[in-house]
Amino acid sequence: MPTSELVLRVAIPSPLYSSFDYLPPDHCDPTQLKKGVRLRLPFARSQTVGILLEVSDKPQVERHKLKAAIEVLDNEPLLPNELMSLLQWCSDYYHHPIGETLATALPSALRQGEVASTKPRSLWCITNAGREMDADKLGKRAKRQADLLRRLGASHAGLTAAHFKELPRTWVDAMAVLVKNGWVEMTQIPALEYGNAEPELGPELNEAQAKAVECIHNCLGMFSAFLLDGVTGSGKTEIYLRSIAAVLKNDQQALVLVPEITLTPQLVGRFKRRFNVPMAVMHSGLNDRERLNAWLLARSGEASIIIGTRSAVFTPMSNPGIIIIDEEHDTSFKQQSGLRYSARDLAIVRARKLGIPVVLGSATPSFESLLNVEQLRYQPLSLPKRAGEAKPPKVSLLDVRGQNMEEQLSVPLLQLMQGHLDNGNQVLLFLNRRGFSPSIICHECGWVGHCRRCDTHMTLHMQKRHLRCHHCGSQRPIPPQCPDCGSVDLRPLGSGTERIETVLTERFSDIPRSRIDRDSTRKKGSLNAILNDINTGEPRILIGTQMLAKGHHFPDVTLVGVLDGDQGLFGVDFRAGERMAQLIIQVTGRAGRGDKPGQVVIQTHHPDNPMLQLLCQQGYHAFAKAAQSERQLTTLPPYSHMALLRAEASDALPAESFLDQAHNLAQQLGTPGVELYGPMPAMMERRAGKYRYQLLLQAQKRTDLHRLLGPWTVQLNKLPGARKVRWSLDVDPVDLM
Ligand code: ADP
Ligand code: ZN
Ligand code: ZN
Repeated sequence: MPTSELVLRVAIPSPLYSSFDYLPPDHCDPTQLKKGVRLRLPFARSQTVGILLEVSDKPQVERHKLKAAIEVLDNEPLLPNELMSLLQWCSDYYHHPIGETLATALPSALRQGEVASTKPRSLWCITNAGREMDADKLGKRAKRQADLLRRLGASHAGLTAAHFKELPRTWVDAMAVLVKNGWVEMTQIPALEYGNAEPELGPELNEAQAKAVECIHNCLGMFSAFLLDGVTGSGKTEIYLRSIAAVLKNDQQALVLVPEITLTPQLVGRFKRRFNVPMAVMHSGLNDRERLNAWLLARSGEASIIIGTRSAVFTPMSNPGIIIIDEEHDTSFKQQSGLRYSARDLAIVRARKLGIPVVLGSATPSFESLLNVEQLRYQPLSLPKRAGEAKPPKVSLLDVRGQNMEEQLSVPLLQLMQGHLDNGNQVLLFLNRRGFSPSIICHECGWVGHCRRCDTHMTLHMQKRHLRCHHCGSQRPIPPQCPDCGSVDLRPLGSGTERIETVLTERFSDIPRSRIDRDSTRKKGSLNAILNDINTGEPRILIGTQMLAKGHHFPDVTLVGVLDGDQGLFGVDFRAGERMAQLIIQVTGRAGRGDKPGQVVIQTHHPDNPMLQLLCQQGYHAFAKAAQSERQLTTLPPYSHMALLRAEASDALPAESFLDQAHNLAQQLGTPGVELYGPMPAMMERRAGKYRYQLLLQAQKRTDLHRLLGPWTVQLNKLPGARKVRWSLDVDPVDLM
């Protein structure tokens, strides 16, 4: 076959379920091109970057209709074969176009065609000589130098190129003069974080820990999935650290996935204290360049440990040895837009392809993982007791029916708090609702502040003095009087963390407080500042949402109050109970982690609820067993498999009729083993001005579901109603709202 007959088949980020053919660029021998390199391509009157899937001699369209690629961007494939094959699997399983799937896996700098090489960042700091310079005396001609000097003089940590973005490029020359004169010093910031030169050894393992570590060690170098099921504070992180140590000894890399909220400097610090190796930390605060650097250093093998959130599951590694997923039950591992993948499930698939162990850790394993253990797909490793001296906290229900309440705080809880604070300890209050109160109501006529773009009310934020919708983000000032009847008697309805905080200010005026929720931690670095405050150990009240429940180590907290234990009892989603139980147990785990015993009090209006009692008296696993048998009886996941087709439009009708057409299409294709429910309006029918409908597909056998999804999804775009809606498919949805 003459090479002039060959075409390049590429994946392009586009919602179409197909690959695209191009002619090779001028002067390019297509037989020399490796699968997985990037190409710059003409596309729809503009340009795009695609990835070469294969070189083929069978064009999908006639050759003379094909355009030529503009240039080849890489010599070597960007993604190792193993990752290409994972992404192909991912595209097939989630029925998502391959081009978009590959694009999701790449750092955005590479998606935009940047060169795949690391650049250390330069950091400029003012020197003592520079500080003594009087910038004003530099004269008119050196205005730029004077400006730079003033800026650097005002910064403690120094400045990078990102700080000078708005200046004309000549700032570089001015800076060079400053450096030459010794007024400014330039250093390079490494892209990697380095551990301690003299790493800590870590505690001696207890029996259960030693057994778990041994099981994992025995499986190094082969695929094996473990569920490390250990109560909070049982030393799971210690198991990760020991397993990683073994992997590093073999010159292999470790990939650690954690939920967004727990990826704090505290966690990274713990890894750094233990290992004297380069680490790449991939969190949402990185800019494009930093993310690219971390990614490339993982790919080259220079980074030995990679710690990251969900999307880090796609990090290439030259010599991977283990994958660890902490808090595996956490729903943040599921992406909720675009390619709706589960990083946990992909980690398992990837580990199997790589032939390496994968460890899922949790104090409150997901029902999916518990079933996988039951069906012998995962090996259970259990840490039933807290490590070290810490004892499990005493958990009790507090019946608040008929009690005097100050907002959500009952008198007995307030008294308990006083006792713990008097003893010099810390108290943690948990309420999974931020803002001052969930809404505002007119006491005269009952008017409630609704969002104009969503079917929900707006949350009252007192500090900001506005009403804000937590679903679409729109906000408006608190109205001075009721828009319906004109009354000025507008009152908050219910309470959120902000309101509890004001009660605490009145009740415990001399005790410092910390509030942890998305509002109080919006500013970069503020979460860490708060965590550091808490760890000073002085008496203190912590109030927070689920941000407070996860991962953190607060050794001086001896009392945890769950303010609304009823929140999960009447949830509409079938997973509401599981989620609430997980949250309660996680937050319970914050009590008594030091050497002082802990106590947990759960306020409820339903002290007789059998599920709540089970959770309280016998713990998570007893609760899970009971809840799982309910799921089994009703054949809900994990005892069946779901996919959700969502459609949204500016009107209800197009959304509903597209789903009707999709329903009919499925029936034409044949649906053995699959039940279809809907179309029906989503729980919140209107959100951000869009009407939302959904069609639920459910099957006992995964294969039945996917047999339908394959041909179905590629035809959905061709339905007459498809152009009038935005639609998306969610395989294994975790959120049915
Ligand atoms: P988890 O990850 O299960 O919450 P950690 O690994 O954070 O548990 O351990 C909880 C606390 O117990 C930490 O302060 C840790 O240093 C300590 N710890 C862990 N294992 C041991 C051990 N074998 N002996 C003494 N202390 C331990
Ligand atoms: Zn009114
Ligand atoms: Zn809204």
